[in-house]
Amino acid sequence: MIQDLQLYNTLTRKKEVFEPLNAPHVGMYVCGPTVYSDVHLGNCRTFISFDLIFRYLKYSGYKVRYVRNITDAGHLEGDRDEGDDKFAKRAKLEQLEPMEIVQKYTLGFHEVLRMFNTLPPSIEPTATGHIIEQIEMIKKIIANGYGYEIDGTIYFDVEKYSKEYNYTILTNRKLEDLLENTRELSGQDDKRGRLDFALWIKAKPETLMQWQSPWGMGFPGWHIECSAMSAKYLGNEFDIHGGGMDLAATHHTNEIAQSEACSSHQPAKYWMHTNMLTVNGTRMSKSAGNGFLPGELFTGDHPLLRKGYSPMTVKFFMLQAHYRSTLDFSNDALDASEKGFRRLMNAVALLPKLVASADGDVFIDPIREKCLNAMNDDFNSPVAIAELFEAARMINTIYDGTTKITAEELEKLKTLINDFVFEIFGLKDEESSNLELNEILEMVIDLRKQAKENKDYATSDSIRLGLQNIGIQLKDSKEGTTWSKV
Ligand code: AMP
Ligand code: ZN
Repeated sequence: MIQDLQLYNTLTRKKEVFEPLNAPHVGMYVCGPTVYSDVHLGNCRTFISFDLIFRYLKYSGYKVRYVRNITDAGHLEGDRDEGDDKFAKRAKLEQLEPMEIVQKYTLGFHEVLRMFNTLPPSIEPTATGHIIEQIEMIKKIIANGYGYEIDGTIYFDVEKYSKEYNYTILTNRKLEDLLENTRELSGQDDKRGRLDFALWIKAKPETLMQWQSPWGMGFPGWHIECSAMSAKYLGNEFDIHGGGMDLAATHHTNEIAQSEACSSHQPAKYWMHTNMLTVNGTRMSKSAGNGFLPGELFTGDHPLLRKGYSPMTVKFFMLQAHYRSTLDFSNDALDASEKGFRRLMNAVALLPKLVASADGDVFIDPIREKCLNAMNDDFNSPVAIAELFEAARMINTIYDGTTKITAEELEKLKTLINDFVFEIFGLKDEESSNLELNEILEMVIDLRKQAKENKDYATSDSIRLGLQNIGIQLKDSKEGTTWSKV
């Protein structure tokens, strides 16, 4: 079942045939969110893109171990080891313990991705849960001669590394240009080279999150966590490493350097980067202040929004662009996606009502082949979706009797929709799932009523509390019981 899949490798700057190191097993590592605040829609785009890739690899018969980390320590505001710790700053602002911040925003992140119907990764390791692994890796980098200590802080020696390896392999930039564009060393900074970055940072007495290390109390630099955790769960060499494009120049460049300095292996065979979600052409980001929170989009409660859009509409909007193209957010584009998604789902809802004929004039194999070809061409979801619209048109004409379909082709049509709409794109019909929920809740409300009539108040209370725990509130009145989501 394994397909002839081509994917674009940032490392070689071309599309390559996907040949996993140990087929059918595939190891995939994606840089996860920094959980000091809510994820915005831009972050979601990256995770939805990798969910599509994860789903399609699984669909193609691969056994994928998908590792997506949670950055819950060590992320300073500046890219180059300066500025405040994002978690400490937020903890002070919200008057919470840093791990309360981590917990709060990790739960929020999971909730958002659940609404987008993404699959959980196979492993979701945290930076704070892997301090020992990070320290061990830093020790190895120092022993191999690529790290040095200055007063409790450990730096990576980029100059030394660049003599043996290509530091800018991922972006193909010139080292001289990088040096040119990097600021002069600031007074308090003792590192040797301008491009050197911190592997371990000495804590100040007031640093909220700090750990014991061979170099004294401190905390890890941001980049080392991904090198340590990817090696731990996927080995020194694995198949795919991904993240947003904004991570390539610094975070991923430094990850490659660390892994090579430690084990002399370039960690991933394929590096994949998703393009950015933009607003009026500017990258959506927390710092630019143009970040929509998914909740704002669903309710429409944002000055730039004309109305709210459902999670599946937003997901469909994202899937209608290729993951390597920029995608600009606009009300008009979302309106168009909303219409398109409804059109597709209305056709899907007609599928069970279609009746097969003895002979037919529509054939599914060519559509299926085009869908597969599109996905095998670097996960080209917009082209595959265009083909699904073709299938939707076909469903409508069969339903209204303009065309006929045989039983065999009808089975193929159902499989096509099931495979692509639900399994690969992970879409769901929100209207029909609300319908199902309604029916189930009516049954539960009825059971509670019976319990009450039998004076079995323990059961009726436990039903009410149980529903409340999953966010459903029952309201009793003279007319009967109604429910709402809280
Ligand atoms: P962060 O929480 O900032 O570390 O980001 C989590 C992930 O979201 C990273 O892979 C980023 O590259 C990605 N990301 C950040 N901003 C955007 C954006 N505007 N569009 C797409 N992906 C983004
Ligand atoms: Zn990372």
